[in-house]
Amino acid sequence: MDLLAAVKAGFIIGDGGYGATIISHGLASGECEESWNLAHPERIEGFHREFIQAGSELLQANTFGANRVSLARHSLADKVGEMNRAGVEIARRAAAGKDIFVVGSMGPCGELLQPYGDLTEDSALHAFSEQAAALAKAGADGLFVETFTSIEEAEIAVRAAKQTGLPVAASMSFQASGATVMGVKPEQAVERLSAAGADIIGANCGIGPAQLFPIMQEIKSCFSGPTLAQPNAGMPQLVEGKTVFPETPETMADFAVRFRDLGINIIGGCCGTRPEHIWAMAEQLRGK
Ligand SMILES: [Zn+2]
Repeated sequence: MDLLAAVKAGFIIGDGGYGATIISHGLASGECEESWNLAHPERIEGFHREFIQAGSELLQANTFGANRVSLARHSLADKVGEMNRAGVEIARRAAAGKDIFVVGSMGPCGELLQPYGDLTEDSALHAFSEQAAALAKAGADGLFVETFTSIEEAEIAVRAAKQTGLPVAASMSFQASGATVMGVKPEQAVERLSAAGADIIGANCGIGPAQLFPIMQEIKSCFSGPTLAQPNAGMPQLVEGKTVFPETPETMADFAVRFRDLGINIIGGCCGTRPEHIWAMAEQLRGK
């Protein structure tokens, strides 16, 4: 089924975060997460399988930082095509024989746009267009522009993603204050992301489900299209030098039900959301 048709017909259970898992499996500090698509594809496939077994109905390929600008920081700018293709193919292998959507993940460039930083609009558009084209060519069912804090950069990424003709979700990362770190409020995000062509709008990362809930209420109040909510497993805490996400699977599951009742169409998790969280969420949402 087409991704947009599926979300409009009800809701889909997403997956969780991969970063912490990849780090716990030995990603070196400063090493590029997406480089594992080429170096350790079997491990990434295993992480996807764990989420599928837990109940995920949609996988995000491990391609969050696989744009030319981000990869250049690891001297891997020539690997854009290869890493995005591998990311989608790995998720497809994990989902083989099952009715699971595979979407390409597109995160920010990790640099500020001019005039605040050195990134030009042209180079951002080129980087996102190149990544989006690679993900589409690899057979992604949709593109998730996610974890953006700058509305200008998110708009550029949405425009680039829309060029592929695939369904595009645009998701910004809010703080507990109710705005992104760049000061974008949900209403502004909805207005500008929908004008840029986003088919699905939502929020992910940054905060836990309790803080994300009122933001999703605001998004719902001014956007009639499909929506996405992928909170972190709670607000990150630093415990003995390590980042810990404290939310229990049960609490994530309670919120998953509240998100569904609010009419959210894609319900998953971001950082710290492990297969056991998705398991509890799926159990509540699908009653399995
Ligand atoms: Zn996150």
